[in-house]
Amino acid sequence: MPSDDRRPASIAAQAAGDIEPVSGAIIPPIFPATTFERNGDLTYTRGYSYSRVANPTDASAAETLTQLERGAETLLFGSGMAAATTVFLALAPGAHVVVPQVMYWALRSWLAGFATQWGLRIDFADMSDAAAVQAAVRPGETRLVWAETPANPLWSVTDIAAVAAIAHQAGAVLAVDSTIATPVLSQPLALGADIVMHSATKYLNGHSDVLAGSLTTARQDALWDTVRAVRVQNGAVLGPFESWLLQRGLRTLFPRVLWQSASALELAQRLAAHRGVEAVLYPGLPGFPGHDLAKRQMQGGFGGMLSVRVKGGTEAAIAAAAKVRLWKRATSLGGVESLIEHRASVEGPASPIPGDLLRLSVGIEAVEDLWQDLDQAIGQT
Ligand SMILES: *Cc1c(COP(=O)(O)O)cnc(C)c1O
Repeated sequence: MPSDDRRPASIAAQAAGDIEPVSGAIIPPIFPATTFERNGDLTYTRGYSYSRVANPTDASAAETLTQLERGAETLLFGSGMAAATTVFLALAPGAHVVVPQVMYWALRSWLAGFATQWGLRIDFADMSDAAAVQAAVRPGETRLVWAETPANPLWSVTDIAAVAAIAHQAGAVLAVDSTIATPVLSQPLALGADIVMHSATKYLNGHSDVLAGSLTTARQDALWDTVRAVRVQNGAVLGPFESWLLQRGLRTLFPRVLWQSASALELAQRLAAHRGVEAVLYPGLPGFPGHDLAKRQMQGGFGGMLSVRVKGGTEAAIAAAAKVRLWKRATSLGGVESLIEHRASVEGPASPIPGDLLRLSVGIEAVEDLWQDLDQAIGQT
């Protein structure tokens, strides 16, 4: 059946779906080879020459993502950071870019540090406010607008269609970090974005055992050619074992993300009524500023990430995180096990994140167990 006729959940379940031609195996083999045979006339009929350029295991995981994002091509990277920074490195020094004020912390630090020294001119804008993005872009000068939605760790929502129109009118492209939404809940390319990025370390792999990243482009163009060249030259590629594990994880992407979203919504609603909680940040709650937009732009749920502002400030938040038993105190997100983290202490004094905030990554455990653990941990503070 041609991939166009299959629904995304079916594409994911069969991970691009090819039967291995030699044995008939229903899952693909791992090709650890770094180098591939050249013909007598110096050509490569099969398309593979050297593993830093392309590897067949990597290619089949990438194809699954291309189909899920309905893009033209996907490139896999050794981490989400490698994927994201490659887009910025593909711009010439001196290029103007507009990025979010609140975003994944390590990328924000890289932009403020390395990318600035390297010569990018960077403006940080409120990506949840289209007027602020409009004011920040410089027609003819801005080359890239970067958005993350929902954005770590306040889960503010960007209007992808509106920001894409603003970027395009200014002569820029829009890249969206869709790590939190995943292709299950949102398709940024269909809304007008030019490139979609994932930390595949998170939901796409889903088992906290692979570090990986991806970029998917809406079309083949000059910027994408440069992205591909920077990736290969920097060697920011994903190894075949990791690619294979990622593809295995992708098979269960839909049930995991839908389950995690349902549990996150349930926990957000209960936490919002908890006596120890000041506020719950979650796009699925009707009172949340980005809720109506998220309802329009996401389907099937609002994601597995939420944050809680605990009554009693920084100390109460750290104390609550110390009391959990089932939730694990750890960084990262998107795995099957639930994680809790006090972001302000991780990010340090320059962090814009309030001290009373705990970030929750909801896993696939029984939601009643997750609730009871949070209730006892926050209740005692
Ligand atoms: C984790 C993460 C990244 C960075 O990905 P790594 O795989 O850790 O390099 C980027 N963006 C978001 C939203 C993330 O959660």
